[in-house]
Amino acid sequence: MGFKAIIVGGSISGLTTALLLEKAGIDYVVLESRDIAPPVGASLGLWPNGFRILDQLGIYEQIMEITVPTFKTYMLSRGKTLARPAPDEKDIAKETYGYSSCFLDRQYLIQILHKNIANKDKVLTQVKINSIDQTDEGVTVTCADGTVYTGDVVVGADGVHSFVRGEMWRSMEKDDPTLLPPGEKTAITVTFSAMFGIAKDVPGVEAGGVYMAHQEQSQLMTVGGKDGRCFFFIFKRLGKVYTAPDLPKFTEADRDQVAEFHRNHKVNEVATFGNIWDRKIIGTYLPLEESSFTKYAYKRIVMIGDSIHKPTPASGQGGNGAIESAAVFANLLVRALARHKFCKEPHLSLDDAVGISEEYSTMREARMNELIKTSHVMNEYSLWPAHVLSLVEFVLPLIPSSLAQMGMKDMLFAPLAGGPHVEFLPLPQKKGQWADMVAR
Ligand SMILES: Cc1cc2nc3c(=O)[nH]c(=O)nc-3n(C[C@H](O)[C@H](O)[C@H](O)COP(=O)(O)OP(=O)(O)OC[C@H]3O[C@@H](n4cnc5c(N)ncnc54)[C@H](O)[C@@H]3O)c2cc1C
Repeated sequence: MGFKAIIVGGSISGLTTALLLEKAGIDYVVLESRDIAPPVGASLGLWPNGFRILDQLGIYEQIMEITVPTFKTYMLSRGKTLARPAPDEKDIAKETYGYSSCFLDRQYLIQILHKNIANKDKVLTQVKINSIDQTDEGVTVTCADGTVYTGDVVVGADGVHSFVRGEMWRSMEKDDPTLLPPGEKTAITVTFSAMFGIAKDVPGVEAGGVYMAHQEQSQLMTVGGKDGRCFFFIFKRLGKVYTAPDLPKFTEADRDQVAEFHRNHKVNEVATFGNIWDRKIIGTYLPLEESSFTKYAYKRIVMIGDSIHKPTPASGQGGNGAIESAAVFANLLVRALARHKFCKEPHLSLDDAVGISEEYSTMREARMNELIKTSHVMNEYSLWPAHVLSLVEFVLPLIPSSLAQMGMKDMLFAPLAGGPHVEFLPLPQKKGQWADMVAR
């Protein structure tokens, strides 16, 4: 048996990693504790940095069949329209990077990733893991039912409450109690909450329209998807900043209270939040965790996605950043294994594993922690108190709407240029101002 990666978690991070490794001809197994793509009711905005990698994986067209570009932004404050898209509004994301930004059910993206994995028998569900042990030679993952998986690396793609992250810390503390940076175990905080979900056929919500409606200390965001799909969010500031492990939890009664509070608030010139709520398919209320971890990998354990870098949704970079991380890890792995291409059954030496971990950690920590900070600032700036709302309501109509929208989009789009690509797959022939292309 040659090299094998054990991927824990079968959502965006885990399945993107699996598909990348499959394309590279690298063996893996995915261990998912639930089913693949359960209907949890979340939507996902895909941005050019995520799209470019998904395009390299050959699934861009399949995604575009079920979504529409979202580049028309409407702004309202306390029910008054402040800015409408200009009739000749351009799709800046597409013009700059070759890909539009689009919204779709998160579940559908996971289904597409899964559908495109050729070896479905490598994706195992209902598997609960109990421990991870790493040695100089490899890793051993033991499951609750006693099954044992051995391999060369473990990929922790198991979300914000990651078990693998805890096992990575355990391994560091065992090697040297001073290795774990202080503050790492309290590096998740919660400042904001989000009520989000999916509704259908809401009047006045057009496909591709993004409606940002501000109320005092809250923002209602509505996005029109394909075939009458309507993705909705209510962002709120909580009264205090919570720190792990003492993070808040909400009940269905809390969710319904938020919905009722906003029932009569306008989301555009036609609809109120009540119209959305009455047509909802699903709605959830959650605290918005944000992380600031500094150790993204240790020896044979590499963390990808929400398990190690979790921004608020304002920048739309949680899932896109996870796709980036999967690509960077796969690039490093392919490079390392190429050094053993003449071995019949290549394995990753401890030195190679440490090399990958350190390079991955450095590359991803710098980029993702910057995106996490930007996302926090965007949430901060969109939750205005009454006096700021009054000021915005006075000033914004004086600014040409194209200029106001450019400012907002610049904050969203500028960081995308630094997104990585997959080194071992052909780059699609689309134009784009990517830093890694300019550098060539
Ligand atoms: C309201 C909201 C809006 C968002 N909007 C956007 C957006 O527009 N754009 C964007 O890019 N991102 C967005 N995000 C973030 C995005 O949804 C996440 O970043 C993304 O889903 C992370 O994927 P993941 O695979 O890392 O983790 P998850 O999706 O959390 O998946 C983790 C997987 O691991 C499994 N698992 C957990 N524990 C174990 C275990 N012990 N063993 C085995 N399996 C396990 C879980 O069952 C799950 O399948 C949003 C998030 C929220 C809350």
